Amino acid sequence: MKKLELTSPAGNIEKGILALHYGADSVYIGFPGFSLRSGAETFPMEELQKLTDEAHRMNKKIYYAFNIFAHNQHIPLFREALEKTKDLKPDGLILSDPGLLSLARKTLPDIHLSVSTQANITNYETVNVWKSIGADRIILARELSIDEIKQVRDHTELELEVFVHGAICMSYSGRCLLSSFMTAPELGMTHHKFGSPKIRQANLGDCVQPCRFKYALVEENRRDLAFPIEEDQWGTYVLSAKDLCLLEHLNELIQAGVEVFKIEGRMKSLYYVADMTRVYRAGLDLAEKGEKISQEVLDEVYKVSHRGYSTGFTVPEPGSKGASYTGYIKTYQFLAMVEGETEPGLYKLKVFNAFSDNMEIEAIGPGMKNKKIEAGRFSLYDKEKKKIETIRHQFDGFMKTDEKLSKYDILRVKIE
Ligand code: SF4
Repeated sequence: MKKLELTSPAGNIEKGILALHYGADSVYIGFPGFSLRSGAETFPMEELQKLTDEAHRMNKKIYYAFNIFAHNQHIPLFREALEKTKDLKPDGLILSDPGLLSLARKTLPDIHLSVSTQANITNYETVNVWKSIGADRIILARELSIDEIKQVRDHTELELEVFVHGAICMSYSGRCLLSSFMTAPELGMTHHKFGSPKIRQANLGDCVQPCRFKYALVEENRRDLAFPIEEDQWGTYVLSAKDLCLLEHLNELIQAGVEVFKIEGRMKSLYYVADMTRVYRAGLDLAEKGEKISQEVLDEVYKVSHRGYSTGFTVPEPGSKGASYTGYIKTYQFLAMVEGETEPGLYKLKVFNAFSDNMEIEAIGPGMKNKKIEAGRFSLYDKEKKKIETIRHQFDGFMKTDEKLSKYDILRVKIE
């Protein structure tokens, strides 16, 4: 059996480094201007080089995503991007447009090429078409069951990758015009409302996620009156899909011939990426040995922000079980990341949400490390090392504690 690979999202350089540190075998990051998370991925080439070098220093891999559906004006820009890619030396590229993939194969004959889930590959004949133009790996459509994945495996030697965790669309893996429609000014809905002076197209990586909005009924002559639509006690989030979680099905996916397991979430927080990476690292290591996934690992998926979980199409559930009627569920707040120990017991923090020295907090780290730090066991300091009771969001500072912490540990607090 080929070596299994856990691949995690790198929405930016810091998230990528954290994902590698928390157990990912590889990370994927959007190449600026060409990925499906255009809002997240606007960083200079030097940063991309830094993450690429860091992945290689750790003997891990990095893939650049070029998974937009290209229009004619993208082609010369793509040629330029491929030239830059030669110097950056990623381990592979991820594409969804056959024209771009074919061009990448001709320009970079030796590079590893993956076909994005955005290409909606649902059968082995389509796999063969992509193989004929140079693909090495197929990231299957999220609409396949485990049996269908196995049938694809039986007909191809190409590497197979599936999404195992994260947000999913109510449409066919992102083939959706809702965002374009709702941000087009000539259709009567202002695009400025979404903070952007342009139409935001899902297939160019710029979705505003209208499927997550709460909808109401408006009568033509009384547009200021929004009548609630109450299909049931949850209201009207009928377009919003629950998040995918296949943690309990990793062994079945391995048996079906999947080699690469992907976590979605380039727009998610550092905490989300780190926590879900360590969870799936633990899950995959256990599943590979044929062992049951522990309750501690299973429980951890509920400690990041999520919309409820389903097994999607992979292990189909009946009827409305896949729809999220609740919006986001959040039980823990991400507080800070440890940047290093500056003197024994004194840790430099990067603070993301304010917290105080009278709270019970928790430190987490790679390998399912979870440590409670009760009030009284830590004290807080500002960046001049003056003692304070509360440390504020976006202020760097220090924490003194008898608990042994490490660089990249994350501090969080239970909120309900
Ligand atoms: S609007 Fe929703 S379903 Fe459509 S592409 Fe965006 S996230 Fe997916």
